[in-house]
Amino acid sequence: MNQTVRPRIAASACPHDCPSTCALEVEIFCERTIGRVRGAEDNAYTAGVICAKVARYAERVHHPDRLMRPLRRTGPKGSGQFVPVSWDDALDIVTEAFMRAEQAHGSEAVWPYY
Ligand code: SF4
Repeated sequence: MNQTVRPRIAASACPHDCPSTCALEVEIFCERTIGRVRGAEDNAYTAGVICAKVARYAERVHHPDRLMRPLRRTGPKGSGQFVPVSWDDALDIVTEAFMRAEQAHGSEAVWPYY
């Protein structure tokens, strides 16, 4: 007999760098599987609704082709040439790029928060 698994609903917040900072309700089936993502019902801004990008979050995080480790581009942009790098190396590369951008253009070049 088939049984429908009922997810528990967890409160969360959107992780995107977006000024709306939406409150979310996330269906959780187990520690590694989410279901639908909705805007929080009890939040005046979201009122149960969320943007299309985040409403489809489960499809993205559980997609079989999702990147699971950092890749560093080795060829020209658009060439599709990448090599895997460690998380430590990836974080060092990003940190150094942020610092170069901040020194050359100011902190708003890294975090344009208003
Ligand atoms: S859910 Fe969409 S609109 Fe809301 S903060 Fe995230 S990206 Fe922005």
